[in-house]
Amino acid sequence: MAVIGASDTEGRPNTLITSRLRAWAEARDATFVPVNPNRESLGGLPCAPTVAAARKAVGRRGIDLAVILTGDVEGALAEVIAARVRFAVAFGAGFAEVGEEGRAAQDRLATMVGTGHTHLLGPNTNLNAFEEFDTSLPEPAIALISQSGHQGRPIFQAQELGVSMRYWAPTGNEVDLEFADFVKWFADRPEVGCVAAYIEGFKDGRTLQLAADHALRAGTPITMVKVGRTEAGASMAGSHTGKLTGSDAVTDAVFRQYGVQRFDGLDELLDASQMFCRAPAPRRPDPGVAVYAISGGTGAHMSDLLSAAGLRLPTLSTATQDTLHEWIPSYLRVSNPIDNGGHPVGDERGRKILDVLVADPNIDVLVAPITGAFPPMSNRLAADLVAVAETSPIPVCVIWGSPVGDEAAYRETLLSSSKLVVFRTFGNCVAAIRAWRDWHALRAGYRSPFTDPKLVPTRRSRGAAAARAALATAAPATAGPVSAGPVSAGLASPRTSLSEHQSKEVLRAYRIPTTAEHLVTSARDAAAAAASLGYPVVMKACGAGLAHKSELGLVEVGVGSPRATRAAYRRLVEDAPVELEGVLVSEMASGGLEVVVGASHDPIFGPTVMVGLGGVFVEVLGDVSFRVPPFGRDEAKRMLAELRGAAMFSGVRGAPAADTSALVDVIMRVQRLMMDLGDEIAELDINPLLVQPKGRGAVALDALVVPR
Ligand code: ADP
Ligand code: MG
Repeated sequence: MAVIGASDTEGRPNTLITSRLRAWAEARDATFVPVNPNRESLGGLPCAPTVAAARKAVGRRGIDLAVILTGDVEGALAEVIAARVRFAVAFGAGFAEVGEEGRAAQDRLATMVGTGHTHLLGPNTNLNAFEEFDTSLPEPAIALISQSGHQGRPIFQAQELGVSMRYWAPTGNEVDLEFADFVKWFADRPEVGCVAAYIEGFKDGRTLQLAADHALRAGTPITMVKVGRTEAGASMAGSHTGKLTGSDAVTDAVFRQYGVQRFDGLDELLDASQMFCRAPAPRRPDPGVAVYAISGGTGAHMSDLLSAAGLRLPTLSTATQDTLHEWIPSYLRVSNPIDNGGHPVGDERGRKILDVLVADPNIDVLVAPITGAFPPMSNRLAADLVAVAETSPIPVCVIWGSPVGDEAAYRETLLSSSKLVVFRTFGNCVAAIRAWRDWHALRAGYRSPFTDPKLVPTRRSRGAAAARAALATAAPATAGPVSAGPVSAGLASPRTSLSEHQSKEVLRAYRIPTTAEHLVTSARDAAAAAASLGYPVVMKACGAGLAHKSELGLVEVGVGSPRATRAAYRRLVEDAPVELEGVLVSEMASGGLEVVVGASHDPIFGPTVMVGLGGVFVEVLGDVSFRVPPFGRDEAKRMLAELRGAAMFSGVRGAPAADTSALVDVIMRVQRLMMDLGDEIAELDINPLLVQPKGRGAVALDALVVPR
């Protein structure tokens, strides 16, 4: 291990760092070589003037790790790469985090790394990469990845509460090694029970997806605090989908796809990570939770929070209840929550009760909230909980709610156990149990989309050529009356969208059903088209750049006669603010549920697919959900289930159930379209897609494609 910029000048920060690094190296039996051109020796060790000299000094073994402490990261890295060092760590700051010039310097580092064999951690990382852990704490342990040193501190510090930790990767600016690299490596380590992460931004959406997929398959959960929930970045998009696709919603979708458990606070992150390390998998996908408390009030409060979070509190078996009533007065409730009335925990009955509870067949996790210290009861209860957790077939969670937190029952008893999962707040316990349930449920039925041959994009997809032909008709952004005119509410951005007719051609190329329709350019042809379709018909102005036609009064629904058809034709042509391709005469669809299916691009994750309820009201309702390709049909179904109004699909107020299978088909075809043509399509809206009653399919009534 070579340290570039090693120092022994008293008072210099690098002196302190040098000795920390030296101790770290020596603890691992590594040869430590200080590199500094101004010293003969340093701390009693011979000092190399250059990295090349250090390389020579260690001979054929080469250098495994070079730590760059100097400000000139670029210069040092060049030497490190030339010396064929395997890994470099750069502490220096002043790169992309400080603006343009820094970004350029960072790009130069990236180029350098790309040419050599050296992998770089940093720049702008820190000493957290060289922490020593309390290895006396039993495994499995937390592995931490943080993009901020200080935000990782509370996880590291939790070792003092008995929470086991083994690795800490402070990833810095991620020029080379990034979050995803560490996830993959940690996920394969048997000693790692959970990867906890504090993240400000992902370098690459694809590597994140692949790493999270890998971790899920390896059976290692990822817990994460990801900042940026409220990022205002409303896109300048012309489509509904574009406006509704916030980056954070897409991030959440990816997390759901791969089971990354997201938390708001570092305290929740820590507690849930502890739960993942200590609790075995639940015995069923929707585990039963039992609440056992000294007081009826406490039991009711905790139960209320658990059920509000969607967790299941089953009734204990009658056999269990009968046995419990041998020790608990008959007037107290023992069905779940279990109120022991207080006194039984003070004697030998306490342990017996716990043994019976954890053995109940309906129960998969036991929660024992202790809101405040009351030594005559809580001391013995704490000791009994520790004892029962040793042999319990199900996880035992305890909340020590006392705000003081220095009681022996907490510090010496509860925290001494590596089997109990110990919390300080009800909320964190609920969040952890829910994450534990969700992650295991997803994992149990997980099929990686990356190994699904149906989801591999194909260059020769049959629809691609036809869709490309339709896209080729798009007007160039700077030509034509559309972009020259004022951009009003109903017009797409100057980056001209295809007309509805052309947009539907793109859909048809991918076998997405659309209404039967004719594009006409005279009143006479309009009447003829209507006659062939059958009255009533729908008539719309059709032209490039017309994004929201009804806002401009350019949609006539229910046109019922030849005369009305001709009149509508003339009016639409007259009112259109742009040059029209023609007027679209369509069959009038009825019955069913109006939904929106769309696609757009996220700067980190690339193409995204959206589904939402509400047709023209989609933006008001905001009831949408997202997925990032690749995803299978099961995920498309989960997408629908996530909508607040999902119940609409099963038919409410006498309406028949909707053909969700046809809707899933459309979602999957839109995914395929974006996998094939994502480079050519910026945004896509099918709004509305009319989802008809079961067995009758789904049909696109409108479409908008914005070329990229
Ligand atoms: P916009 O450009 O304003 O989105 P649409 O083509 O979506 O215009 O039409 C507006 C509304 O008119 C749709 O939300 C739908 O309710 C109704 N509509 C459009 N086309 C048809 C059709 N072929 N059959 C029945 N209703 C239609
Ligand atoms: Mg529409």
